[in-house]
Amino acid sequence: MNPADELAPYPSPEGRATEVAALAARVEGELVEYGASVEGRPLVAVRVPSTLSDRPRIFCGANIHGVEFIAGRVAIGLLRALADGDPRLASLRSQAELWVVPSINPDGYARTFAAGGHGRLPHLRGNAHGVDLNRNYPRPGGAGPSWLPGAGSDRPGDATYRGPHPLSEPETAALDRLFGAQRFVAAANFHSFMGTLIPARVTDRRAYATYRELCRTFRRAQPHHRYFRLASRIFDTFTGEQEDHQHHVHGTWAVCVETFTILAMAAALARAERVLALQSARSGAVGRERRVRRVRLLHRRLAARAPARLRSRRMSEDTTRYKVVVNHEEQYSIWPEDRELPLGWREAGKSGLKDECLAYINEVWTDMRPLSLRKRMEESKE
Ligand SMILES: [Zn+2]
Repeated sequence: MNPADELAPYPSPEGRATEVAALAARVEGELVEYGASVEGRPLVAVRVPSTLSDRPRIFCGANIHGVEFIAGRVAIGLLRALADGDPRLASLRSQAELWVVPSINPDGYARTFAAGGHGRLPHLRGNAHGVDLNRNYPRPGGAGPSWLPGAGSDRPGDATYRGPHPLSEPETAALDRLFGAQRFVAAANFHSFMGTLIPARVTDRRAYATYRELCRTFRRAQPHHRYFRLASRIFDTFTGEQEDHQHHVHGTWAVCVETFTILAMAAALARAERVLALQSARSGAVGRERRVRRVRLLHRRLAARAPARLRSRRMSEDTTRYKVVVNHEEQYSIWPEDRELPLGWREAGKSGLKDECLAYINEVWTDMRPLSLRKRMEESKE
């Protein structure tokens, strides 16, 4: 099958470049070439000047992971909305100058497109050197690497390989220069597809509270599914990320926006169920059982589908052995077999390759509500 058909409506790299150039003209913006990728593709930002002069600059970057096409579409959607004069963006346009980078990793985009979206994750996610660009930034204050899974790897060939040294890649080095020159006040970096907000990691209480407020504002504006905020003052979930570097080195309020809805949908369903339980406890409404059943069915469908989506397009080919773990809320996860269990988790009695473990979780975790919530709901029934 022709990749152009297989990945429709996602455009080819050339189609995307044409689209971005046309949008830049329509917003009366400027195409800024701020560097070149490993394979010599231009690194392009669209500068959208403010309607007022000399306003603070905001950065919106996307597709640092080659396979995350949907993130790039969000950035292009933003440009299109600006070009169409969307009234919701009028105040943003007067208050700030926007810099939009629809693809931070154009080589990864081109490779994913050529492969029709099929292949191993490390092959599609990184740049042309196989480096995960979002693990390639210096760690703030020379901190040591985190041991959490996904934090970053020193092994070439891994999906989160951080590269030979920080800023070793032309894509990250060029962005670092752009960040230094433009001194962005805030940044949204679009990824897909977890439905989460991941602010820069800060330990300072006031900065932490500011990020909480920023994320809350974002969530409030979401009409359907609200994203989770994933943040901790104690743990650094991922290391060598762009947000951390932007915050600690360039003084930018930076948030990773994991677009799409997997976790957000689970949260919305749990909330819907809670609301139904409350309503029925108050009014003893007719048809309550039927409504609760319907929500449960949705829950089960989601539970059955989420892991399949997480494994979509055969992108995970991981030879690590995992064990299934469960916490006191009876929520399930997987954990590398050779690592000591994290605090608060116990073994569920299953180990194997990632897919086997996920399939097991898929089978046993049919009710995604935390145990405490299930108990509360049982009580309110009586
Ligand atoms: Zn990503």
